[in-house]
Amino acid sequence: MFENLQDKLDRAFKVLKGQGSITEINVAETMKEIRKALLDADVNYKTAKAFTDDVKEKALGQNVLTSVSPGQLLTKIMNDELAGLMGGEVVEVNLSVNPSIILIAGLNGAGKTTFSGKLANYLKTRKGKKPLLVAGDVYRPAAIDQLEVLAGQIGVSVYTNRASKDPVGIALEGIAEAKKNGQNVVIIDTAGRLAIDEEMMNEIAQVKTSTKPNEILFVVDAMTGQDAVNTAKAFNDRLDFTGVVLTKLDGDTRGGAALSIKSVVNKPIKFIGTGEKMEALDVFYPERMASRILGMGDVVSLVERAQQQFDEKEAAELQKKIRKNKFDFNDFIGQIQQIKKMGNMKDLMGMIPGVGKAIKDIDIDDNAFKPIEAIIRSMTPYERENPDVIAQSRRVRIAKGSGTDIAEVNKLIKQFDDMRKVMKQFSNPAAAAKMMRGMP
Ligand code: GDP
Repeated sequence: MFENLQDKLDRAFKVLKGQGSITEINVAETMKEIRKALLDADVNYKTAKAFTDDVKEKALGQNVLTSVSPGQLLTKIMNDELAGLMGGEVVEVNLSVNPSIILIAGLNGAGKTTFSGKLANYLKTRKGKKPLLVAGDVYRPAAIDQLEVLAGQIGVSVYTNRASKDPVGIALEGIAEAKKNGQNVVIIDTAGRLAIDEEMMNEIAQVKTSTKPNEILFVVDAMTGQDAVNTAKAFNDRLDFTGVVLTKLDGDTRGGAALSIKSVVNKPIKFIGTGEKMEALDVFYPERMASRILGMGDVVSLVERAQQQFDEKEAAELQKKIRKNKFDFNDFIGQIQQIKKMGNMKDLMGMIPGVGKAIKDIDIDDNAFKPIEAIIRSMTPYERENPDVIAQSRRVRIAKGSGTDIAEVNKLIKQFDDMRKVMKQFSNPAAAAKMMRGMP
């Protein structure tokens, strides 16, 4: 995410490297580079100028601090200012009304339907809510199908009325349905529309007037840069939405949309989409995003994502199994699944400080686990529990079944066995201490 911008900012900071203090001259030069980096990232010109003027003023004003280097000082100022530019404080989705009505708006293909599903999933699993999805796109039957599929995946109910061509009616029916069933959040997905399409804008304005949503979230594709900002402005003028959702931040987005939207429409970014999976949604934390842009990593988000996926009770069970040397291939495949659920490998690794830049040009294959999974799945349940008893003839079958070869099967079983030994040792403190003592 935002690697190019990160690189350029890094280069801008180099101007200050080795300089004893911040001066009018070196700070002006750095700001010129930073402004260029921002413009390259497709940040709005006015925003970039106001931003660098601000940073410059702060840098010159705080130059009395002699304990930090100019580079460190500027990094800190930049971090605060970037966070401020993106809204400063995190603004959570408003769920204070029962049922909360959340209207989703945006252009075609922005990611509205995907986000609707992700939001329902987030509210269900993270906030303990009972959401109802409402299929309000009356123009594309495929959009209704898509919402139904997503709803099925996440186990959330969906209201559809395929016979109706009236989005206002459908939205109201959906709300009535939610009230009847005790569902406390209604997410209304709508058709994509252009801000210049008067008729379509009237239509969504009517949905707003009739349903009185407490949240109107404008969904926009971050890859579209400045266009995203312009569209946001046009939609906001018409709908006065309550928040922005930036999707597709997992692609090679330049960052302009994330950095400019708040200052242009003065509405907070509430969520970011980072992939096609239902779990690939993050609450937007301006502070963390700023640290990420500055290449300081985003350990907090990484830890949180891991916490969401790993259940403590399950972890304790695993510990017990490891201690008894009973950790088997079933457990192993379960762990692989959990890691995969956390999202795209490269994105996850990029959140570790210092790693993002290092792996920028490396292709990290999300399919690396595939042959391992195939091999494990080709084993019988008994074999998965007792990998050390798999006979040679069975290994040949497993290789065939998994489309791998015998050497790969042997290697995996051997590695797994070695791993188990090490894990067992480390789960027993006395044995671990003994092993450490034995080390040179
Ligand atoms: P809608 O027309 O606004 O409802 O857009 P969709 O929800 O159908 O999304 C359009 C396309 O973008 C689909 O192929 C989605 O899978 C994809 N998409 C949506 N959100 C994200 C995201 O955060 N990251 C990525 N990589 N793809 C996304």
